[in-house]
Amino acid sequence: NPTSEPKSDECVKVVVRIRPLSRKELQDGHKAIAEAKEDRGEIVVRNPRADAREPPKSFFFDAVFGDRSAQERVYEVCGAPLVESVLQGYNGTIFAYGQTGAGKTHTMEGYPDPPELRGIIPKSFEHIFDKIALADNVQYLVRASYLEIYNEEIRDLLSKDPKDKLELKENVDSGVYVKDLTTFVVKSAMEIDHVMQAGKKNRSVGSTMMNLTSSRSHSIFCIVVECSQSDDRGDHIRVGKLNLVDLAGSERQSKTGATGDRLKEANKINLSLSALGNVISALVDGRSLHIPYRDSKLTRLLQDSLGGNTKTVMCANAGPAEYNYDETVSTLRYANRAKNI
Ligand code: ADP
Ligand code: MG
Repeated sequence: NPTSEPKSDECVKVVVRIRPLSRKELQDGHKAIAEAKEDRGEIVVRNPRADAREPPKSFFFDAVFGDRSAQERVYEVCGAPLVESVLQGYNGTIFAYGQTGAGKTHTMEGYPDPPELRGIIPKSFEHIFDKIALADNVQYLVRASYLEIYNEEIRDLLSKDPKDKLELKENVDSGVYVKDLTTFVVKSAMEIDHVMQAGKKNRSVGSTMMNLTSSRSHSIFCIVVECSQSDDRGDHIRVGKLNLVDLAGSERQSKTGATGDRLKEANKINLSLSALGNVISALVDGRSLHIPYRDSKLTRLLQDSLGGNTKTVMCANAGPAEYNYDETVSTLRYANRAKNI
């Protein structure tokens, strides 16, 4: 039926970014076995354990980014189209997926200086407020919240007591929401940047725990843009929501030798990442009558921003070195499943 709404698969974009070998990896003599062919949208991976006659594996995506890809380019492809549609009152979500160390936080946050290193989150702040500054006759209200899902528990990163666990609630008017979540009204890119910095400090208590905690939790920075416009027929209000998600590390936990509480925690991570994969693949499939949003906190929370009239970008990040081969292939398979076929 050509006149019906666009299929969800047209609203899900899957991209892959391969980071460069680090200085340490180069010093230690590691070799790159994964490569992005940007003009073909192709990732080529060679199995370091196979003999030379075995052809490399090849995967195709909506876009791919290689080891010299600029943050600016990644933003143009992954961030900018979502921000434009959020300003028009639609919801959108960007996920960074991949094993710990693959470049998720580099892609989402990057570094404040020099400006070329800023990632999708700070770039979308600038984009939103640049657009607002140019708008005539339209009033905008921008609100921000920042939370973390750790062990299937929701923690408010902007609260004075970030250790408090918050609950997911549901009601007919507002759908699924987090009860008592702190939100700030922000009036400039600088203000929202301060909000993000403050929240980041709450991601863990001790700095030595930082990498551990952040690799085991999903963080969601959420920007709600309300825009109101009056004309001779009355007032019009549109509300769009942008979710910027830095997912927990996707490494297979069986290999990390975790036991006890750590293993339980690890299983929850794997569970929520596979729940997300199932939701996205059901959305792109288009024929599924049931989308399994309820299978994890992450997918329940993002229910109104996945599917329907929303845009979703899955950015899978991977390391290029031969010792990352298994994880890199598993990341590419996950991303491949999220793609429309
Ligand atoms: P993750 O958040 O997935 O655990 P990070 O984003 O922290 O991984 O990246 C690990 C390291 O690799 C960091 O030092 C980061 O600066 C570097 N890195 C990641 N991606 C890139 C890239 N595209 N270009 C340059 N350095 C990168
Ligand atoms: Mg990270």
